[in-house]
Amino acid sequence: KAGLKKTKAGFVDKVTNIFTGRSNIDDQLFEELEEVLIQADVGVKTTFTLIDKLKEDVDNEEVTEPEELMSYFQKELKELLQNDEGDFNFNNELNIIMMVGVNGAGKTTTIAKLAGRYKKEGKKVMLAAGDTFRAGAIEQLQIWGDRLGVNVISQQEGSDAAAVAYDAIQSAKAKDVDLLIVDTAGRLHTQTNLMKELKKVKRVIEREAEAIGAGVEVLLVLDATTGQNAISQAKLFNQAVNVDGVALTKLDGTAKGGIVITVKNELDIPIKLIGVGEAAEDLQNFDPEQFIEALFS
Ligand code: GDP
Repeated sequence: KAGLKKTKAGFVDKVTNIFTGRSNIDDQLFEELEEVLIQADVGVKTTFTLIDKLKEDVDNEEVTEPEELMSYFQKELKELLQNDEGDFNFNNELNIIMMVGVNGAGKTTTIAKLAGRYKKEGKKVMLAAGDTFRAGAIEQLQIWGDRLGVNVISQQEGSDAAAVAYDAIQSAKAKDVDLLIVDTAGRLHTQTNLMKELKKVKRVIEREAEAIGAGVEVLLVLDATTGQNAISQAKLFNQAVNVDGVALTKLDGTAKGGIVITVKNELDIPIKLIGVGEAAEDLQNFDPEQFIEALFS
C-alpha cells in the first residue's frame, strides 16, 4: 500500500531492526523500542502499556526468543486497535453525519469522498453547507455538489449554521435522502465560539433526528501529520460534541502512523476512516487487521 510508505520506513522498519539480529530480549531492546514508539506518535501512555506488557510476557516466558517478537508485536497492535463497533456503515432510513474538524484537516475533501462513495453505491446523498464562517466554504461545497451530482443545502455566508442544518434535515426527509452530511466551521482561533456553535448545531441535529428516527454520527476529521496537535484538537472537539468516530487524513504524509494507536487507545475514539492520498479511493474504511497487515507486509 503506497499510502503507508512513510510510516513503514519511519516506524515499522525501525521496529524490525530492533527485533532482528539479537540473541536475547534485554533492557536495551525495551529502551530502543520505547524510543521508536514515542517518535512514531504512539503516545507515551500506550508506549508504556505496550512495553510493560512485553516485559511481563517475557518474564512469564510467553515470549522467549527475539524471533517471536515481530508476530507478537503485530498481535498486540491489532488488539489495541480492535474496534467492536465494526465498519463504517449506515442502517437508518436517513443517516446524518455531522463533520467537525479544524480548517485544513481535510474536512471538505472527506465530505466529497464520502458523498461520491455513497452516491456510487446508489444512495441518495445530500450536503449541508454548515461552515457559514469561512469565506468560500459554501461555494467550495457547492462546486463538489455540482461535480458529484449531489444536492447542497445552503444559506448565505454568516448565517446561523444550526438553521442550515435544520433546513437540510427537513429537505432530506422530504426528498427521501439516505445520507445527509453536514459540514461545520473549523476556525480554531475563536475556540470558545466555535465549540458553542458546534454544540448548538449538534443539539438541533439530534432533536430533529430524533423526531424522524434518523441516525446521527459525529465524525471528527484529524490531520495525521499534525501529530500531538491533532490529539489536543480531538480532546477539545470530543468535550464539546462527543465524537463518535475519527477520519484520520493524510496518513500518507507522515512517518508517524502511530497516531492511529494514540487516537484509539488514549482518547478511546474509534477510527472509522483513514485517508492515504488525495484520490477518492484513498479514503478507506479503517480495519485494524488489514491496517497492521499492510504496515508489516
Ligand atoms: P478543510 O479545510 O478541512 O476542508 O480541508 P480540505 O478538505 O480543503 O483539505 C486540505 C488539503 O488536504 C487538500 O489539499 C486535500 O487534497 C488534502 N488532503 C485531504 N485528505 C488527504 C489525504 O488523505 N492525503 C493527502 N495527501 N492529502 C489530503
